[in-house]
Amino acid sequence: MSLSSDEQKRYARQLGPGVLSEQGQLDLGRSTALVTRVGGMGGPAALMLTMAGIGRVIIAHGGELISPDLNRQVLGCEAGIGQPRAPHFAQYLRSVNGFVEVEHVDHEPADSEALDLARRSSIVLSCPPTFEERLRLNRAAAIAGVPLIDAAQWGMTGTLMVIRAGETACLQCVYPQAPPFEEFFPVVGAISSAIGSLAALEAIKILSGTGRPLLGKMLTYDGHQGRVTTLSLTRRDDCPCCAEM
Ligand SMILES: [Zn+2]
Repeated sequence: MSLSSDEQKRYARQLGPGVLSEQGQLDLGRSTALVTRVGGMGGPAALMLTMAGIGRVIIAHGGELISPDLNRQVLGCEAGIGQPRAPHFAQYLRSVNGFVEVEHVDHEPADSEALDLARRSSIVLSCPPTFEERLRLNRAAAIAGVPLIDAAQWGMTGTLMVIRAGETACLQCVYPQAPPFEEFFPVVGAISSAIGSLAALEAIKILSGTGRPLLGKMLTYDGHQGRVTTLSLTRRDDCPCCAEM
């Protein structure tokens, strides 16, 4: 199995020393990523995975696009205001790279559906605003046995965690209980896109066997201070999600 000449041409700038090997590109092309949700962080994450040539991307997001989304949701446009987000965004992703299968789910999946989707995926990118959803995806990825990339944002700060339950700390090791949720929290789109792109990069690294993934780490970019910190995370012996794994 090798890349077609059209694929060679499309991915020419990311193939070679220091980037992906041809085998890595083929492995990426056989992989499926679940990205939920696809707003400020998940949107650029899904876009970068699509552009990089993942085999299939499944995007999940409910609701309709509204004007305040457009300070950060890069898959949207003004003409899409009032339209259901997921199909509108999926259509855009398909227009970007015809080598990629794009599937959409027009709501936030609950427990059993999240698990089914995780089982169909090679990796899960968790980009929702609520801890309830993030912890649900953490559980689903752990049970499905696939890596999870958790992305979060607030104001001009973003965090990223790369998790393989049973080997690294999981999200629930770090946050045993969901902190209170603020519905209309502040966020600048530039940080959303930066964190979403880094989430995609970590997924590309894992799926293509390139570089050293941030497994077991939490990366924080404090945009106010221009400061990056990376912490190593420790598993919790009494974690209800992963202690038995
Ligand atoms: Zn855990």
